[in-house]
Amino acid sequence: MTIQELDKTYIANTYARFPVVLSTGRGSHIWDEDGKEYIDLATGIAVNTFGIADEEWAGAVTKQLYTLQHTSNLYYTSPCARLAELLCQKTGMKKVFFSNSGAEANECAIKVARKYAGDKYGPDRHVILTLDHSFHGRTLTTLAATGQDVFHELFQPLTPGFITVPIDLNAIRELTRQGNVAGILFEPVLGEGGVLDLPRDFVQGLRAICDEEDIILMCDEVQTGNGRTGRLYGYMNFDIIPDVVSTAKGLGGGLPLGATMLSEKVQNVLGAGDHGSTFGGNPVCCAGAYSILSRLTDELLEQVREKSQYIISELKDAPGVKSISGLGFILGIEPEKPLNEVVSACMGQGVLVITAKTKVRLLPALNIPWEDLKQAVGVLKAALAG
Ligand code: PLP
Repeated sequence: MTIQELDKTYIANTYARFPVVLSTGRGSHIWDEDGKEYIDLATGIAVNTFGIADEEWAGAVTKQLYTLQHTSNLYYTSPCARLAELLCQKTGMKKVFFSNSGAEANECAIKVARKYAGDKYGPDRHVILTLDHSFHGRTLTTLAATGQDVFHELFQPLTPGFITVPIDLNAIRELTRQGNVAGILFEPVLGEGGVLDLPRDFVQGLRAICDEEDIILMCDEVQTGNGRTGRLYGYMNFDIIPDVVSTAKGLGGGLPLGATMLSEKVQNVLGAGDHGSTFGGNPVCCAGAYSILSRLTDELLEQVREKSQYIISELKDAPGVKSISGLGFILGIEPEKPLNEVVSACMGQGVLVITAKTKVRLLPALNIPWEDLKQAVGVLKAALAG
């Protein structure tokens, strides 16, 4: 059987895959099993921060692999302690809980918000507000948090205590005045929901509401974190500081790692035994993540912003483009023609892009070389126009 046939036979039917078997890569270049080369503008959905087989990351991972691949969280290990210190130094957060995925990072955030509110105000204060069109993960609780009915229907009953709200401060204020809201969870750019931008006033208004009502403001940086928006974390575009920041994807650079960062206010909400994970803080994943995080310098982030501006200026008035949204290297391009035609045309011409609702979604590696970016944008432009 071919790989595609094997996969269709033995892998659960949950993924609608593109008809291509990817086999190797280097930086922003990927080759399929037939040797066809692609420029990668998708990075495994914002995971391969420095592209494929990045030498520094692979070196850090390999070194740790041959040193100590796993203990358990019953012992101290250096990579997770050092990574937590670096995350806190770079963000001003005070403590970190490590897990294995974005959904788990959000689960921890939600637990923190509920425990904070429960300890202080009693168990009735447990409601979590999330935004229309949001996406927070696939566990039953993070599905409940996800503000898209399409994900809910087949899996009822979901975890209770979640309310989806419109992007409207008055509506949110009204709900929070009822006294039962523990937390508000939001993405700085709604990625899976269609790369939707949030107005600055809205994000600042969320912070103000949470301050007024002692509600925990949680920022889901699973997709937008780790340099993706051209700032270290997406919330930094809005001059606010959340109480809890969850992240994953690009932090691990290709290995599974989630992190929930806790501000001073909530740093001690969870105590021994309140939460845990067998693999959370795994030494190999953390050693790789340390190499990623330590290279997310101001200079690199400035290059991301500059390259993002280049993409926007090339495409914003280009034929076949209805609109562009997003920040930095999480961009959504709304085409005039059917989305799948654009994606297939790009693929045919050797450029990998993915979609988010009605848009082509671009998530290039943060260090994509100019020449690769220019070539890929040229292909995309032709696909949009053609
Ligand atoms: N939150 C956001 C904003 C995401 O984009 C995703 C995944 O796309 C998740 C959470 C879930 O992450 P994971 O698939 O690692 O559980």
